[in-house]
Amino acid sequence: MVFAPPLNTDDLRRWRNCERRFWLARRELQRGVPVSGPTPAEPEPATGLDAALRASFPHADTVAAPQSPAQWLQAVRHTLNCLDSDAEPPEGWAILGACLTSEDRAQVRIDVLTAGEHGLRLFKLRYATVGDDTDVDDVALWTHVAARCGFAVQSVGLLLVDTDFVYPGHGCYAGLFREVDLGPVLGSRPVADWLHAMRQCERGSEPEATPGPHCHEGSGCEFAASCKACAVPATAEHSETSLDILGREAAAEWRAPGHHDVMSLRPEDIVPPRQRRAVRAVQQGAPLLEPEVGALAQAWPYPRHCLRFDTIGLAVPIWPGTRPYQTLPFQWSCAVQTADGAWSDHHFLAEGQGGDPRRAFALSLLGVLGTTGAVLAYNAGFERNRIRELAQWFDDLAPALDSLLPRIVDLFQIARSHYYHPVMAGSWSFRSIARAVAPGLAMDIALDPALDAGTGRSAQAVFALMQKPGQNATVRAACRAALQAHGQRETAVLRSLLALFEQAGTAP
Ligand code: SF4
Repeated sequence: MVFAPPLNTDDLRRWRNCERRFWLARRELQRGVPVSGPTPAEPEPATGLDAALRASFPHADTVAAPQSPAQWLQAVRHTLNCLDSDAEPPEGWAILGACLTSEDRAQVRIDVLTAGEHGLRLFKLRYATVGDDTDVDDVALWTHVAARCGFAVQSVGLLLVDTDFVYPGHGCYAGLFREVDLGPVLGSRPVADWLHAMRQCERGSEPEATPGPHCHEGSGCEFAASCKACAVPATAEHSETSLDILGREAAAEWRAPGHHDVMSLRPEDIVPPRQRRAVRAVQQGAPLLEPEVGALAQAWPYPRHCLRFDTIGLAVPIWPGTRPYQTLPFQWSCAVQTADGAWSDHHFLAEGQGGDPRRAFALSLLGVLGTTGAVLAYNAGFERNRIRELAQWFDDLAPALDSLLPRIVDLFQIARSHYYHPVMAGSWSFRSIARAVAPGLAMDIALDPALDAGTGRSAQAVFALMQKPGQNATVRAACRAALQAHGQRETAVLRSLLALFEQAGTAP
């Protein structure tokens, strides 16, 4: 007889998503092959999460996450010991990561378990502002297991981040989470039937499956590369020549008379200049730049400042006076060109684990931008809005910050009206324009995986890693260097774009 491990929330998620996915994962587990969980990553790295939870539940017991069957036994014992007390628990008591296994072999790790007057209160913790259907499924399974273990469950719910919360500082996170009662929506989840169906499914042969959007939802199906059902033939359209580069509506209009890609279109039949330019560029297999942009670019006054901001919106605010997910600037990068053509690089990065960086950010920015010259940014509305916010926060700096706004030139708007490169495949993102004008430049942030394997490659993830409480000096220095290099690469893209525009219309 084949050993079937207990069913858990990962199994339930896979099964609800696709029976074949569940079946394949269970086969792997039975063969002892680890399968990564289907739980989508939280939208941003967890900075200060522990402190926030501790503030809400100062008398919490924590059960360490079990990694093996033996550890599961220990974790369940630990949980039951915490629950096996006649004494009334103190205010702010909870079990964080409570582990339970029911006699029908389902196994759960409950984010937050507290005691109510009439039974247990179970909470799923989400570092998000809203929950979703999979949260309700998870909590339904927890409730089933707790009840099967003989516990009365008084209430179930989500703990979500309250965006009205303003962090007062000193680690005071009470009020960061708001409770959402899931009781009213839980009753319709037939968990016992699901568990039975999952057991039957895993005992049967490989189920049929229909590929669809569910194969790519969240972090995507672990088996998408090997799944027979999902092995659909690659689309005949090449992304660079796809009609979709013209936008969804225009693509639909051109498909209707029978066009499959832009190669069969006649540019003279296309009215919008931007679309006509894109089609011409793709058909000639080379970028197209309107010559009049040269005179425009040459008129931008010196000193020219190629400017790029990096911001973060933390679920758990770390600077007093800020709210969850508030967009806060932590780094600016600026390449400055003087009238003699010389370039210099300038940079500001908030100190790791320092205080609120906004004032230092604003002061240093004013220092480098001075009072004259063009400020060149890509999708400049972003930089403009951050400068406006800084002006609102600091009355004394507001006149100087506001005076920057008329100097800002949006290279995105200029590019859209005068340029197209086939490699952009219809996308005007910063990465796409970087591929076009600075093809040799790798835009990913390179951080030694040995320093923190779980860190993503976004500037936000690296900054959050640098800010992590207790972070060591080596990691902080590596993060700082990686962020600085990232900023320099971004301003290098702006410089390339500027150079491209300036050369337009000049004789070869
Ligand atoms: S790739 Fe899609 S169809 Fe195949 S197992 Fe995964 S979710 Fe199911």
